[in-house]
Amino acid sequence: MRIAVIGGGTAGLAAAYELEKARAAGRPVEYTVFEARPRLGGALSSEIVQGAVLERGPDSFLTEKPAAAELCRELGLGGDLTPSNDGARKTFVVVRNRLVALPDGLMFLVPTKLLPTALTRLFSLPTKIRMGLELLHPPRAVDGDESVAALVKRHYGQEAVDRLADPLLSGIYGGDSTQLSARTVLPRLVDMEKKYGSLTRGMLAAHKKMREMVKISSKTPRAGGPPPIFTAMRGGMQQIVDALTSRIDPACVRTSTPVERVERDGETWRVVAGGETHTFDGIIIASAAWATGPMLAGVDAELAADLSAIPYSSSITVNLIYDEKKIGTLPEGFGFLVPAVEGRSMLACTFVHRKFLGRTPEGKAVFRAFLGGARGEELLGKSDEELISTVRRELGEILGANVLGLAMEPEHVQITRWRRAMAQYTVGHQERIARIRKHVAALPGLRLAGNAYDGIGVPDCIRLGRQAASDLAAIS
Ligand SMILES: Cc1cc2nc3c(=O)[nH]c(=O)nc-3n(C[C@H](O)[C@H](O)[C@H](O)COP(=O)(O)OP(=O)(O)OC[C@H]3O[C@@H](n4cnc5c(N)ncnc54)[C@H](O)[C@@H]3O)c2cc1C
Repeated sequence: MRIAVIGGGTAGLAAAYELEKARAAGRPVEYTVFEARPRLGGALSSEIVQGAVLERGPDSFLTEKPAAAELCRELGLGGDLTPSNDGARKTFVVVRNRLVALPDGLMFLVPTKLLPTALTRLFSLPTKIRMGLELLHPPRAVDGDESVAALVKRHYGQEAVDRLADPLLSGIYGGDSTQLSARTVLPRLVDMEKKYGSLTRGMLAAHKKMREMVKISSKTPRAGGPPPIFTAMRGGMQQIVDALTSRIDPACVRTSTPVERVERDGETWRVVAGGETHTFDGIIIASAAWATGPMLAGVDAELAADLSAIPYSSSITVNLIYDEKKIGTLPEGFGFLVPAVEGRSMLACTFVHRKFLGRTPEGKAVFRAFLGGARGEELLGKSDEELISTVRRELGEILGANVLGLAMEPEHVQITRWRRAMAQYTVGHQERIARIRKHVAALPGLRLAGNAYDGIGVPDCIRLGRQAASDLAAIS
């Protein structure tokens, strides 16, 4: 079976790796990877500068989603999996230019501890009273989708949207909580509202159940305590790209070859790329949905329209290396989130040297600013100089001029613009995906993978890429 993999990002590379494995195991599989850009890896990209790992795209993945760590172990990178430094885990939110720590006991945006919620400076007294009264919230039978902002506002009020939901979600999706789908992004909370009414009561019940399960299932406590929230690669995400690329036959890869369109001819697929037409028995399309839609327009116009309608957000990462001695004392924590209501360009900033130990040399401090969201497109048009001065000004204003004032020259700056890189799971996403699945199922040999469908993170893209490949390899 000849299979085309279109897009050589996280999902496409994972698919190609799986096909290579099938071929090595003796299955009659041949494949070609078409990648528009000169390099493979898509959003996974990092470099080491002055001994510090600078991540251009994702800096880590959620440990609780096993697909990424599993793949790394398979690739012989198990020894390089680096846990987040959760002992120092404290995240701040910018409130009127001041850093306020997220209160202890927050679970998926839900406050579960009385005292930290009562004492935090993050919320005003009326919001705190509302958070207490939320325990009486009645169950809700309505089935339709709504925005994350609407769900959170109904339970905890607008301030909880502005200072909690919005900054947390824009840090993950570069998205807008008034647009993101509650059913897709926070399905657990939607289920809890149906069952318990109060999200706080639902979360406390789930937590209790989990603790009991852990007690029953493990008579001996887990060595080393709970797993880390995030896992990074000691040498950066590029390690995954390099390891995957080294397993794939170079003769099967065509970089700088954007696919223009695909066509269907009876049982076979034609891929038009680089002025040539190639024939395949199956195709895995792992490019962004906004590129996949037009590619499929001649095969299924409705499918193409649904794919093209999936919105994307753009973002920019700016990494700055400083001499740690020269900057003042940073607040103890991983970094901070900036709510949209603060009206800044920065959405978040990570203190990289604190979040993951062993990836920044002694004496260096690395800041990773994340910009974009709703204003992403406008910021993409700014020059490097404008972006650097915006980030340095905002860092100085937020952290205090004597910590990181404008006068403090970074030793190195790395800027990466990500144009329409993050799919947005907006209200109605589930219905759109159900329609897409139905159309794909009617086109034998077609599989879609990538961050537009069933999970935005690196582990989801790996899982979907590998699944698509093993499905097709199984019918070979
Ligand atoms: C700045 C940033 C930070 C992130 N942080 C995290 C994080 O910390 N943790 C986490 O889990 N996730 C994070 N993510 C999300 C995650 O990295 C991405 O969702 C995931 O890597 C996307 O993989 P993909 O294969 O779907 O798409 P991509 O990696 O975008 O790959 C798609 C590929 O398709 C190619 N392509 C497009 N059109 C064509 C065409 N016509 N022909 C051929 N090829 C084509 C593109 O060039 C690209 O290489 C982040 C994303 C970004 C942008």
